[in-house]
Amino acid sequence: MQTLEALARDARALANGEVVLSAPETEVARQMQICNACRYCEGFCAVFPAMTRRLAFGQADIHFLANLCHNCGACLHACQYAPPHEFAVNVPQAMAQVRGQTYADYAWPPALGRLYQRQGLTLSLALAAGLALFLVLAVVLQGQGLGALWSAPGSDFYGLFPHNLLVGLFAPVFGFATLALGLGVRRFWREITPATSGAPLSAPATAEATGAVLRLKYLDGGHGDGCHNEDDAHTLARRRYHHLTFYGFLLCFAATSVGTLYHYLLGLPAPYDLPSLPKLLGAVGGLSLAIGTAGLWRLNLRRHPLHGDAAQKPMDRGFIALLFLTATSGLALWAARGTPALALTLCLHLGAVMALFATMPYGKFGHGIFRTAALLRHAVEKRQPNPIGLGAD
Ligand code: SF4
Ligand code: SF4
Repeated sequence: MQTLEALARDARALANGEVVLSAPETEVARQMQICNACRYCEGFCAVFPAMTRRLAFGQADIHFLANLCHNCGACLHACQYAPPHEFAVNVPQAMAQVRGQTYADYAWPPALGRLYQRQGLTLSLALAAGLALFLVLAVVLQGQGLGALWSAPGSDFYGLFPHNLLVGLFAPVFGFATLALGLGVRRFWREITPATSGAPLSAPATAEATGAVLRLKYLDGGHGDGCHNEDDAHTLARRRYHHLTFYGFLLCFAATSVGTLYHYLLGLPAPYDLPSLPKLLGAVGGLSLAIGTAGLWRLNLRRHPLHGDAAQKPMDRGFIALLFLTATSGLALWAARGTPALALTLCLHLGAVMALFATMPYGKFGHGIFRTAALLRHAVEKRQPNPIGLGAD
């Protein structure tokens, strides 16, 4: 419950036209004041060096720091003021709660962001199932009966769904995801830029942030032994599964892009066989994505309860489940070519891919983009003179 003093402070701020912090934002500001006096965790990640450049924490600072945090858990396990200490410092959890709020705050359209935040797993699976069912019905109607679903149509996907129909289905979904993500990250960038020196991007800052993203630098715990998952022990498992997932996804995306070039530039329509480039990229990417997401799911189930925000579990698991479904159904599609299972497998795969793109702007994928933006601003800010003349980057 808010104290009378806090309520009076909020009322004063509202009357003066100032921003009133939400409860999770106020909690991050409180903990950052304690950490700023302690500074024991300075070497763990980018959050603490960024914190030392501030004496007060406004909303934009808090949103910036929350998205800079990778939820590695290192500062919780190192903290002498963590619960049950009366200071109750739990930086990963406080940051996770604000981060979840920023996904919804910056999402476009906002109602979808809030819905996905509450019902991520259900929404993802229902959307994938609904879209797959829609495609099943299309095959049945087109083939004049249920028999069309279980027959051996050879290995030609376009015999089931003409190429132009697939483009007509996927282009709007992909366009919507890109637009929604772009609008969300633009709002985020505009808010945090003035709070992070306002200086423009430079080539060295961009190179540093890109390196940190590609190597997942801050999941090494600051010492190379990794971060935490279910207990005090360091583990590199999270970093490795994240890498498998991240690069697996990129390879799958590259496979689709190269396939598009084959189709339009070389006049070579899918399906492709080994050792063609689209097939190689897709096979390696699909395997990597399947292993990475299976590992992340397992780690998520065993995650220390104090690390994150329990309310965001459905959202996190929804994203992992859709990525896993996309990868495994894509691999299954390869095996199903020339068999009666082709039509059903193709419907399931296309449904999963479409649901993945439709929900991308609202969950963990958005976190990857927002986090990249925060790392870019951090790399810019640390190159500017320290505004309070204390500490060092
Ligand atoms: S998390 Fe704890 S140990 Fe680390 S800087 Fe903050 S107060 Fe200090
Ligand atoms: S959880 Fe990890 S990334 Fe987040 S503030 Fe703590 S040490 Fe930094």
